[in-house]
Amino acid sequence: MQYSVETDKKWQKRWDDMQLAKFHPENIKNKLYVLEMFSYPSGANLHVGHWYNYGLSDSWARMKKMQGYEIFQPMGFDAFGLPAENYAIKTGVHPQISTEANITKMQEQLKSMGGLFNWEHEIVTCRPEYYRWNQYMFLQLYKNGLAYRKNAPVNWCPHCNTVLANEQVLSDHTCERCGTVVVKKNLTQWFFNITKYADQLLDGLKDLDWPDTTKKIQENWIGRSEGAEVKFKAIQNDQNIKDDAGNDLDLTCFTTRLDTLCGVVALVIAPDSELCDLLTTKENEEAVKAYQQETLSLSDIDRSSTTREKTGIFTGSYAINPVTNEKIPVWTANYVISGYGTGCVMVVPGHDDRDYEFCETFDLPIVQVISNPNEETVLPYSDYGVLVNSGKYSGMTSEEAQTEMLNDLA
Ligand SMILES: [Zn+2]
Repeated sequence: MQYSVETDKKWQKRWDDMQLAKFHPENIKNKLYVLEMFSYPSGANLHVGHWYNYGLSDSWARMKKMQGYEIFQPMGFDAFGLPAENYAIKTGVHPQISTEANITKMQEQLKSMGGLFNWEHEIVTCRPEYYRWNQYMFLQLYKNGLAYRKNAPVNWCPHCNTVLANEQVLSDHTCERCGTVVVKKNLTQWFFNITKYADQLLDGLKDLDWPDTTKKIQENWIGRSEGAEVKFKAIQNDQNIKDDAGNDLDLTCFTTRLDTLCGVVALVIAPDSELCDLLTTKENEEAVKAYQQETLSLSDIDRSSTTREKTGIFTGSYAINPVTNEKIPVWTANYVISGYGTGCVMVVPGHDDRDYEFCETFDLPIVQVISNPNEETVLPYSDYGVLVNSGKYSGMTSEEAQTEMLNDLA
């Protein structure tokens, strides 16, 4: 039998007449919620990629329907943001007009594909009856201190005059829209305090039926929260550096390995942080400025790559190790990303691969403070062990030393 649009139409009318896609919530025992991602009405038509997504879930929904399930498969349009803006720029039509027209067209197309979609519960994210709930939720977060503003570096396209997501910056650091080289710029932005929920999120991951690699990625993204913040006093020409409020400036580092504190040989800060400008001395200004400029053209992904050659430069300032009272140099290096964690990192070459490499490159001392209890210690040694070269903590196990140091620093 040959394919015929007429046959399609005949059956689609029949399905409409019998309200095949209608959801009966009272039939709760057998309900099945089938949700695919919503279409972006950024172009005037659906493309084959849409049906590539919907074909599978729609076929499955139909099968389940025939098996007696009460199917709820809604459809909607994710109609805000850059794609709609780009489309408006390209065509010169106001995004509200073009987006609504695109939605009407796409609804027709989705219907003519014969999908088992429930249109009674359609949502369109650019309509006030939908986004009032986004605004409502944002206000709840704000009222509870979970949404806040601060200065942070963003990807900025000087041609489009807009902030770009990491995904919109191409591998040659140019803007996805116009090809201009993207720069880093400090801007006041909104943040959600999701780190407050890091422990809960990490605990919840354990029970999820997800592939291990996906869980690992999530785990790294959420970040470890078990650890301690260590404050180092910042000094310049043997004087305490003051912050804007006139107080002694502390450099705060987060570490999960407090037991290695006596082996810290330097601190490293992000070159594109305000801290870097504050800590750079007159004598080092020219060199640091050049290094900052070089950093601007790197993406965060390049910067945190473990295989990339380590670069960095001395700021001219020092920090005081709170347990040894030793004076250690403060460097800036672009593997530290401003806006992640405290933006300041301890360098412990004896017990961390990356730090070991960094100190070898720049001739910084490599100090051993943990020894392998079972065999001869080979540096960098990153496991737990017994403390050495650590003053009164020497001889303690890593676990004992962590508890002891935490008490001493409190
Ligand atoms: Zn651009």
